[in-house]
Amino acid sequence: DKAKRPDYLSGLNPEQTEAVETLEGPVLVLAGAGTGKTRVLTTRIAHILSTGRAFPSQILAVTFTNKAAREMKERIGVLVGHAVEGMPWLGTFHSIGVKLLRRHAELVGLRSDFTILDTDDVVRLIKQLIQAEGLDDKRWPAKQFAGMIDTWKNKGLDPSQIPEGDARAFANGKGRELYAAYQNRLLTLNACDFGDLLLHPIRMFRANPDVLREYHDKFRYILVDEYQDTNTAQYMWLRLLAQRPRAKTEAKAAAPGEARASRSWPDDVSSAPAERSRASGDSVSANHRAEARRGQAAVAPDGAPPRSEPRSGDSVSANRHQQINICCVGDDDQSIYGWRGAEVDNILRFEKDFPGAKVIKLERNYRSTEHILGAAAHLIAHNEGRLGKTLFTERTNPDDEKVHVHAAWDSEEEARAIGEEIEQLQRQKHNLNDIAILVRASFQMREFEDRFVTLGLNYRVIGGPRFYERLEIRDAMAYFRLVCQPADDLAFERIVNTPKRGLGDTTVRTLHDYARARDIPMFAAASDIIETDELKPKARKALFDVVTDFRRWQTLLETTPHTELAEQILDESGYTAMWQADKSAEAPGRLENLRELIRSMEAFESLRGFLEHVALVMDAEQNEDMDAVSIMTLHSAKGLEFDTVFLPGWEEGLFPHQRALDEGGRAGLEEERRLAYVGITRAKRRCHIWFVSNRRIHGLWQSTMPSRFLDELPIDHVEVAEQDVSYGGYGRGGYGQSRFDKADPFENSYQTPGWKRAQQHRSEATRDNWGTRSGHAVERIGYGESGPRTRMIEGE
Ligand code: ATP
Ligand code: MG
Repeated sequence: DKAKRPDYLSGLNPEQTEAVETLEGPVLVLAGAGTGKTRVLTTRIAHILSTGRAFPSQILAVTFTNKAAREMKERIGVLVGHAVEGMPWLGTFHSIGVKLLRRHAELVGLRSDFTILDTDDVVRLIKQLIQAEGLDDKRWPAKQFAGMIDTWKNKGLDPSQIPEGDARAFANGKGRELYAAYQNRLLTLNACDFGDLLLHPIRMFRANPDVLREYHDKFRYILVDEYQDTNTAQYMWLRLLAQRPRAKTEAKAAAPGEARASRSWPDDVSSAPAERSRASGDSVSANHRAEARRGQAAVAPDGAPPRSEPRSGDSVSANRHQQINICCVGDDDQSIYGWRGAEVDNILRFEKDFPGAKVIKLERNYRSTEHILGAAAHLIAHNEGRLGKTLFTERTNPDDEKVHVHAAWDSEEEARAIGEEIEQLQRQKHNLNDIAILVRASFQMREFEDRFVTLGLNYRVIGGPRFYERLEIRDAMAYFRLVCQPADDLAFERIVNTPKRGLGDTTVRTLHDYARARDIPMFAAASDIIETDELKPKARKALFDVVTDFRRWQTLLETTPHTELAEQILDESGYTAMWQADKSAEAPGRLENLRELIRSMEAFESLRGFLEHVALVMDAEQNEDMDAVSIMTLHSAKGLEFDTVFLPGWEEGLFPHQRALDEGGRAGLEEERRLAYVGITRAKRRCHIWFVSNRRIHGLWQSTMPSRFLDELPIDHVEVAEQDVSYGGYGRGGYGQSRFDKADPFENSYQTPGWKRAQQHRSEATRDNWGTRSGHAVERIGYGESGPRTRMIEGE
């Protein structure tokens, strides 16, 4: 029997094997970085598939990013020895949410071709609503309210469920009404925001026990990676899917009209506020429901059936009472999305919510050297709120490098030095793919990008705002969206007068009122209004042309290859010509971007598919295949690993980030520390930490102090660069030597565990070399509760 053990199981340690083979009942793998949690999940899926326990379509697997989902799919393919067909339900919570909603859109008042709005659209929409209420949108900024809505949605709260206090806090107590109005407006637009991708499925499952049961029968296995960063809504979503009502109550659940699912949910998070606000919120939610019904009715004439998948494999699940087996893996020390509503407590609740859960700990780290692991473990031990765990590695050998700490004068120096270090690695035949630069804040990236372009070093930026968020790309996308989805009013408004066609604010307002009065989308209103004499002849003619163009493109949608059509749209609309005529310095770059946009569509089957992709994009990969250094934020580095990791910008105020300290206090600091732990533990063999003493923030030079996290690294595993002479001349002045020198030449140095550093420095040489650029030197004046402070000494 042993000889027959499948290949994919060999090499796993006993705890990992247990986690893979315990297929019945709930399993929680709670373990530190690099211990093989993700590998356990991947192998578990391979095991389920190759032992024929389920079809690919019966496995629900949640990853944190789309990229992680793709990688997992590939890995499973390798393990089971053939390409994994299907696995349609492997993805992020959001992408799975979209899929569920496309199937059941009508149950929440949408049509299956609904649009997913991005943040910018959301803010504009909210601004309109605030103005429509006659409120001052300067006093009550739309952006702020968008943030509040997002927070509520992360907690799984409908307008009727938000806490009284929250509702009162915005717009003179109109918070609840505005939220409800926003939801109604989204339904009218046949659109939803990111939060809805979680919230709508929850609502749908609760209100439709029969649908929920369909999924209980379907998903035999549920697997969740990065479980420590699930938020409340995601957690509710998981519990709904993973907990079949007990057999006795199941008959009841099927009874028509009985909202079994919602009652069986003993949720202490959402039910309390819901109870409290019932009285005041009822009219609002009634409204919401009426709207939902209207949306539902609107589906019928279209006759468009919800898009559904082939259900080929589902017959296996005929047994209604089969158990649903959930397996979550996570690490409380890597919970870094608290600011976005993640609840690390979900880990602690697991055993309570899934009785009989098997909790498995993994202690062997397979990723990093002893120095890297030692540094990370020592650092994270400074956090109080943690479960605590043991980690060891056997990935060590005598010439392992310690974690390097380097000082630089400013971020330009830092980028230059890291660039040189990377070129050095390249000369030693290291792949650029094995190297990453992980920044705390995305603004840090530009410096590296600039430098690498100069050096001709390939790099890719992963995650964060980028290509698709550029103005010209958003405009172009609005054209495409409106062609695919004529009810998309935001897209309509964005481009109706871009390029300028004499359809100014007055016309748009007339159209808006016309559409509102009849409760139809603006494009439909435009089509109607050109048959009347509501508009002045010139505007009417211009609008007629726009409508004619879009109708033509809409008919071409089914017949013309989508890249060709996209190009045609940009040409015929005059959008390309607009930038060609533009004499500004950015215009050529914008035209290049538009060309790149068309190019990037080639990988998709249709314009719709492309639009969906863009809406969901969380990682921006540039040329997947090229050998390139990865640049990304620490947040998007979660789960990844690289031979060499550079961690620039370890300075007070940047890392830990000032905002985290100001807003989060001690909890904020601990989350920052977890982020540092995530950063260090991405490294397999080499880890370089940098700090600079001057940083330009918002165009102003600011003096900075080394991060307190540097003090929290254990001396045994860390090596401070004696001098970084090759870049910029510290060698002359001793700045680079003094800053972190173990033999501290300055007075007033003080000692922290295992570590000494200059408490005060005032380097003449520094000022001589750089004074003209910075205009000041720095004196440290203490290290108070809120971290070190600096005092500027202007001039001399
Ligand atoms: P993180 O917390 O950072 O997400 P993780 O716990 O998910 O880490 P993995 O990424 O699954 O860890 O594994 C870390 C590395 O260790 C990977 O390169 C993986 O292939 C390797 N690894 C895991 N288990 C084993 C094993 N039993 N034998 C050899 N290598 C292993
Ligand atoms: Mg992982």
